[in-house]
Amino acid sequence: MSFLAPLLEVQDLDLSADSARTRSAKLPEREATPLLEAKLVEIESLLAAASAERALKQTEEEQIGDEVTQIARDIEAAEVERYSGKRKNQDEAAAHSESQARLHEKQTSLEERELELLEELEAVESRIEVQESARAANRAESEKVAQTISKVEGEVSAELGRFSDAREKIVSCVPTNVLTAYERVRAQAQKGGRGAAMLAEGRCSACRIKLPSLEKTRMLAEPEEALIQCPQCRRVLVR
Ligand SMILES: [Zn+2]
Repeated sequence: MSFLAPLLEVQDLDLSADSARTRSAKLPEREATPLLEAKLVEIESLLAAASAERALKQTEEEQIGDEVTQIARDIEAAEVERYSGKRKNQDEAAAHSESQARLHEKQTSLEERELELLEELEAVESRIEVQESARAANRAESEKVAQTISKVEGEVSAELGRFSDAREKIVSCVPTNVLTAYERVRAQAQKGGRGAAMLAEGRCSACRIKLPSLEKTRMLAEPEEALIQCPQCRRVLVR
């Protein structure tokens, strides 16, 4: 086994950790969360508007109900008065009939408005019902999404713990300067998280460049713990 072979094992663990972290970060549920939250805000605002509308209509309906009751009482009181035995002249009788007719007219028109209001209230109620069931569905979906995210985060965190333990055990076999060079290259963009590569048959296994034979001979002559890097991609080469 090559002296620097543990570096490739470290790299495998680092790559596994990278993909575990990516799996968590790229969960489709993470995109669903803000959409569900925005939708919930919209539902809540529709519900608030509909509830306010319902309260106004209920108040109006109660007021009209009271007015209708009062008018019915007035009509009845006037009838009692009319037939109470007190004699009325013709003018008084005519004024009584006219006043009663006006009251009946007003009563009818208030009752019509009351019916309209009841229909409007029914429509508002059904809008409220629709939004309430949308809110319940939204909450159930949000909960499901949160559970999925938390489950994956738990799995990823356990995986990362295992990778980190395994890395701890082998990383001490790698010379510090080699590890530092590996970390530096690995952190660079477009390196795919790979800071090390095999040197096999005179090629860098990462960028596939064929080393000039003089360079290759020089590298192979270096002590096995020496840091050698690909002249093209700078990855640490493991012989
Ligand atoms: Zn290379």
